[in-house]
Amino acid sequence: MSERSYLDWNATAPLRPEAAAALARVSGETGNPSSVHAEGRAARALVEEARAQVAALVGARAENVTFTSGGTEANGLALSPALGTSRLLMSGIEHPSVRAGGRFARDAVEDISVTPGGVVDLDALAARLEDLAAERVRPLVAVMLANNETGTIQPVRAVADLVHAAGGLLLVDAVQAAGRIACDIDALGADLLTLSGHKLGGLTGVGALVRRDESVRPEAVVTGGGQERGQRAGTENVPGIVAFGAAAAAARAMLEPEQARLAALRARLEAGILAITPEARIFGAEGPRVPNTTLFSAPGLKAETAVIGFDLAGVAVSSGAACSSGKVQPSHVLAAMGVPPALARGAVRLSLGWSSAESDVDHVLEAWIKLAGALLKRSRGIAA
Ligand code: PLP
Repeated sequence: MSERSYLDWNATAPLRPEAAAALARVSGETGNPSSVHAEGRAARALVEEARAQVAALVGARAENVTFTSGGTEANGLALSPALGTSRLLMSGIEHPSVRAGGRFARDAVEDISVTPGGVVDLDALAARLEDLAAERVRPLVAVMLANNETGTIQPVRAVADLVHAAGGLLLVDAVQAAGRIACDIDALGADLLTLSGHKLGGLTGVGALVRRDESVRPEAVVTGGGQERGQRAGTENVPGIVAFGAAAAAARAMLEPEQARLAALRARLEAGILAITPEARIFGAEGPRVPNTTLFSAPGLKAETAVIGFDLAGVAVSSGAACSSGKVQPSHVLAAMGVPPALARGAVRLSLGWSSAESDVDHVLEAWIKLAGALLKRSRGIAA
């Protein structure tokens, strides 16, 4: 088959046509948004229009959106003890950019366990928050909205209620959720929320930290000029920000129809995988997930071999987290869920998006029939 099928949207999404059109409109423009002349003011207007579009996607006020160089930097900016929080609690399935702990000292960082279904353990969190409240320790808690590997949706509202009752603050990494499910900062109860342009159909290298209100003010990491209200110095990435805004507006406009369409495609994909390999396990499928993500494995499967096999068959997929693909290391997400290492080693992630079609799903399944026959022969033989 000569056509390729792209099923790695959680790694990065193709540019949305609306973002490409916005980029084409600004590509001839010159002007630093901080300059007072007409060219500078025009650039400023573009940045502020995009800020309003990004804010609208998450129900925030535009002035509480800080543009960064991506989701990674937004998470690093948010993880600031200067918020008045002296302890960082994070779920075991957070993205590495959160797991790195930002500016918290190593011994001020604690893990919150997750259930075998890949959802943060609310009882464990409640118990730990109670202890910290008794010690008068004010925590920052980081729980993502949708996991990048499994797609599991976390009970963020319930987490927020527990965190606020204990006097803490909540960071929600919504990088993989925005544009896929409703993501309103107030409804979620987030104090800080992070986004990435390229996961939404914008460009790589741009993201945002969104604050509930002015009072939540992390200490800047990138310092220098007073851009972004002192939260992030450096001349703004105008094309990246414009594309991010356009992608956010398009994702917002298409949210409901895309959700329904992707859920149907994913159901067809998973039914096909299970029909071909009944021994396959789909991680996190017992609870709510974003509609575009499937992470599966089967006994005896080696993800790196499967990814190469899919690639040769014309299908782009990834093994576990894309940020760490290329390196063969077990997924910390599946480890936190208690998945045996041998099964975790075979985890393959298939992720869809707005331009995915039934033909892509059929392409994957055709490839999987052939690959499963070859890759699982030995383990099936042993099991038989
Ligand atoms: N958070 C999550 C959940 C992600 O999946 C990613 C990227 O994979 C990031 C943060 C980092 O975003 P960026 O690639 O824009 O740095």
